[in-house]
Amino acid sequence: METITVVVPCYNEEDVLKSFYNEMIKVASEIENVDFEILFIDDGSKDKTLSIIKNYSMIDSRVKYISFSRNFGKEAAIYAGLKAAIGDYVVIIDADLQHPPRLIKDMYYGIAKEGYDSVAAYRKDRTGESKIRAFFSRAFFKLASKITKLEFREGEEDYRMMNRKFVDAVLSIKEKNRFTKGIFQWVGFNVKWIEHENINRVAGNSKWSIFKLFTYSLDGIIGFSTVPLIISSFLGLILCLISTILGIYLIIKGISTNSVISSSLISILVTLLISGVQLFLFGILGQYLGKVYLEIKERPLYIIKDQKILVNKDIEINEEFKV
Ligand code: UDP
Ligand code: MG
Repeated sequence: METITVVVPCYNEEDVLKSFYNEMIKVASEIENVDFEILFIDDGSKDKTLSIIKNYSMIDSRVKYISFSRNFGKEAAIYAGLKAAIGDYVVIIDADLQHPPRLIKDMYYGIAKEGYDSVAAYRKDRTGESKIRAFFSRAFFKLASKITKLEFREGEEDYRMMNRKFVDAVLSIKEKNRFTKGIFQWVGFNVKWIEHENINRVAGNSKWSIFKLFTYSLDGIIGFSTVPLIISSFLGLILCLISTILGIYLIIKGISTNSVISSSLISILVTLLISGVQLFLFGILGQYLGKVYLEIKERPLYIIKDQKILVNKDIEINEEFKV
């Protein structure tokens, strides 16, 4: 029988775990001919989260858990969950019921029956969310898609089910600074999107402040693009151009009117020119840094979706590039 592993990152979720567990086992009972593994990742919670999870694991053999020594963040929890999951299908879901567990049925259907490699959920609206947060979220998805050339979807979450191939591909990206939404896009495969209404937390508080979200978004863009490194070259070029044009204009004006150019103006122009050259060179250095940055991530050169190749003693599949 096939197994679905449900990975649930939890940080101080004592107020919601009971509702989550009840909802989850209800959904599990509605999907026939498949086993469930419910894998809670306690991300260093300071409340009763771990003891509640332990209790569930004693009464229900499907419940497993991993508990971190301190709070390492949701990205680390997701990675730990994907690594430990034994399922043929793995779904990542929040504990606060903002990700409706009933969608797991549709996700499973999408992969097992329709042949998708992953089914991802997104919110079709942001009702109930603060206007500032909704605005920045929207702006982020637009900007990130433009800069990184990955196709982020407005309202996309970390709520998705993956088949084994997809999970292994995600795990083959070993970088430590993880931005899972980007990694999901980067690995490719056939992905189905399903929408759901925006739901507010059943209890407890969001663990994300606007500041945390901002640095997280920046991490996302920087993790998947070295374009920001060109900005200084671009600024440098503009400065050089402005100072050169102004310089030429002043020289021509000086000659034609036979007047002396003020020395302070000359020193301003020279400073501008030198700063421009420096900025431009910083940008070039940045390009090399960018290459080193991409190399040390050691991402696979490609990820195989399907293959039929000849394997004999002369032709071997290069293990290094196998997912
Ligand atoms: N979470 C986590 N570690 C953290 C922050 C959050 O494991 O450092 C979990 C949290 O328990 C929840 C999920 O990640 O299950 C989403 O967090 P939250 O609901 O606070 O985020 P929001 O829905 O507000 O974006
Ligand atoms: Mg939430």
